[in-house]
Amino acid sequence: MTIILDGKALRDKLLGDLKVKIDKSEIKPGLSVILVGNDSASQIYVNNKRKTAEKLGIKSEVIEYPADVEENVILDKINELNQDDSVHAILVQLPLPEHINKLKIIDAISPQKDVDCFTTINYGKLAAGLEPAVYPCTPKGILLLLDEYNIDLDGKHVVVVGRSNLVGKPMSLMALKRNATVTTCHSHTKNLKSITKTADVVISAVGEVLIEEDMINENIIVVDVGISRDKNGKIRGDVNFETVCGKTSYISPVPGGVGPMTIASLMLNTYELFEKSLKRS
Ligand code: NAP
Repeated sequence: MTIILDGKALRDKLLGDLKVKIDKSEIKPGLSVILVGNDSASQIYVNNKRKTAEKLGIKSEVIEYPADVEENVILDKINELNQDDSVHAILVQLPLPEHINKLKIIDAISPQKDVDCFTTINYGKLAAGLEPAVYPCTPKGILLLLDEYNIDLDGKHVVVVGRSNLVGKPMSLMALKRNATVTTCHSHTKNLKSITKTADVVISAVGEVLIEEDMINENIIVVDVGISRDKNGKIRGDVNFETVCGKTSYISPVPGGVGPMTIASLMLNTYELFEKSLKRS
């Protein structure tokens, strides 16, 4: 029997609990999101984040700049947000336009307000097996989802498809920290199928449909991070869900799996940074 990893249900449960805590608090957590340009996908993501934050009672603001904004304008804003005690979490929505030095912008964020573990300091801590201020939202959401279904990664062969700094690489590091045996695959990987065939868990973060039924063994766990659209504009993941689903023990759907958990993690991380700042003051 296949069990669907229900990210929406877990999101609702986690955020319900979080709202109770925020309602009780006199001071409210603050999340600032910087959005540059008019990438429509980014605008939708940021809007969803803002709406979710507002429902929870998190003070959220979206700071928008046109695509041709000068780098210094964003750097000045980040410095201002770093100094602002009512802002506990800062997120720069990626991608940024070509002329902006992404690393410079990200590293301007105070590591104590770095809500997606983007800065070199937090990322370095993650890579070194130390505690970053908070863990990156998408991999954190995936681990919360697996925990909810009592799926223990210890000793399992976890195959992560994708090695981006945003998802694949931190996912591999975090699975390693959970004592999984990790293989990270990418566009240069030869014969992906021969590797996914040896997996206990496949986590795919690519952005195109590439996990087919003949690539996995029976009863494995599949987590689908990918988001793309079919020719009718319908959202889909990296996994051919219809054919793969019946072969798995657990599988996350798209939509309704990892996506809601990423937003939930962003809210949890905002609250975690807020709590840490209260302890410091
Ligand atoms: P990305 O930066 O484009 O990375 C994609 C990765 O896939 C790269 O490492 C690339 O390898 C690898 N890849 C491409 N083609 C491949 C192939 N044929 N076989 C094996 N690996 C291949 O994207 P990302 O930011 O990591 O996001 C990945 C997907 O997850 C996207 O669809 C994105 O929209 C989605 N996403 C979803 C959530 C969510 O909350 N659900 C959050 C974040 C991202 P190279 O490194 O060699 O190029």
